[in-house]
Amino acid sequence: MKIHEFQAKEIFSKHGLPIPKGIIAHNAHEAEKAAKEIGTSIVVVKAQVHAGGRGKAGGVKLARSPEEAGTIAAQMIGSRLKTYQNPEGLPINSVLIEEGLDIEREFYVGITLDREVSRPVLMVSAAGGMEIEEIAKTTPELIFKEHIDPVLGLMPYQARKIAFKLDLKDKSLISQFMKIVMKLSKMYFDLDASLIEVNPLIKTKNGELICLDAKIDFDDNALFRHKDILEL
Ligand code: ADP
Ligand code: MG
Repeated sequence: MKIHEFQAKEIFSKHGLPIPKGIIAHNAHEAEKAAKEIGTSIVVVKAQVHAGGRGKAGGVKLARSPEEAGTIAAQMIGSRLKTYQNPEGLPINSVLIEEGLDIEREFYVGITLDREVSRPVLMVSAAGGMEIEEIAKTTPELIFKEHIDPVLGLMPYQARKIAFKLDLKDKSLISQFMKIVMKLSKMYFDLDASLIEVNPLIKTKNGELICLDAKIDFDDNALFRHKDILEL
């Protein structure tokens, strides 16, 4: 089962993961109000559809004023977003209004089941923003992997190993990165997820790591254990 980005981000936030300030909107009026409440000079209007690649398809747009956020929301809501995964398009019923963040670096972080070794695998790449399939094709040497022991979970030494490969340098960044991947791994098991993806995880100009995008797919066979998730 798939859920929307704003729903995944709510779950991320409950698990203590850093996400941008954001408010969901169902029409232009709500979008404008949300942008005012967020209060940053730039907000981002993000179409909520069950597909990736929204940025390239025109489903993620910058607005320089609350009025502009309202105008963009009016154009998006009620239309269909055609992405490379969904050529016939998916209906946009709501948009997430988010603070516009100053991006310095983008990383890819994903956890999914590696069927070849029957274990979950943490995959991280410094080539964030790109789809993992594309990174795997063009620069596979830039994807760092750690298999996760299903009994022990992700171990701090594994998180640290990847942090060093990403050349994060600064102590604070390494510590933030480790906390984030440890929490994502815990979430993967706690929620019976089949995929958790943060693409991109960003480093802001202020030296903070933030989950800019969030995707959680759930194992349908385990949903009976998660009534609250099923409601989403
Ligand atoms: P998708 O993966 O569906 O294209 P993302 O949420 O990853 O959607 O957004 C696409 C791109 O838009 C990001 O890689 C980032 O460059 C930009 N972006 C998204 N949200 C924000 C934000 N809150 N502030 C600044 N830039 C953003
Ligand atoms: Mg993304």
